[in-house]
Amino acid sequence: MTDYVIAPPAVASVAVAGADERFPIRRVFCVGRNYAAHAREMGNDPDREPPFFFTKPADAVVPASGTVPYPSATSDLHHEVELVVALGSGGANIDPAQALDLVWGYGVGLDLTRRDMQAVAKNMGRPWDMAKGFDASAPCSPLVPASTLGHPAGKLVWLDVNGVRKQEGNLNELIWSVPEVIAYLSTLVTLAPGDLIYTGTPAGVGQLNPGDVVTGGVADVAEFTLTFGPKPA
Ligand code: MN
Repeated sequence: MTDYVIAPPAVASVAVAGADERFPIRRVFCVGRNYAAHAREMGNDPDREPPFFFTKPADAVVPASGTVPYPSATSDLHHEVELVVALGSGGANIDPAQALDLVWGYGVGLDLTRRDMQAVAKNMGRPWDMAKGFDASAPCSPLVPASTLGHPAGKLVWLDVNGVRKQEGNLNELIWSVPEVIAYLSTLVTLAPGDLIYTGTPAGVGQLNPGDVVTGGVADVAEFTLTFGPKPA
């Protein structure tokens, strides 16, 4: 048994719908600009360039329920609702035709973004980490196993803020499909069990404020409701 000089950190995890067992999280990968209408609203060309990725810490994943803390250091927090893919197995250089075999299940999550900080990073050619990978920046619903759900296709992706529809898209509008994302990402890193992939957001991203009630979902997969806490002192 290994001894550590400090107590080792807890394993980050996310709930599984209808089960006591939790899904342990290894890494969190996020796809940028994977819906054409969102790429356009961010001022980018939606042509099918290779996908690009950024990451969040595993423990940035928090339940998409109850109260989620409003982060420090931003006055332009943005919502991005996304299908979340949870991998039960891994590998490198995965064939797209086999990529869905890696998927353990699916959920719906928020890729929360300090949009003001991201704009500075873009302008200055700096990394996005602190704009994307802050504490509690990746709320996620309980996961639903693919063994019962299958692999969702052609489903509505939606988000409301205080009861007003803000984001709406469909999984069939993904520029890079789930198997293509898995296959491409597996050429960059060796994927592993416990990896989550936030697959990109449809158009309609916008500002969140303390006290906002946010509901979102992917039809026939999962839905969530959460409330943002007060602005930190
Ligand atoms: Mn995103």
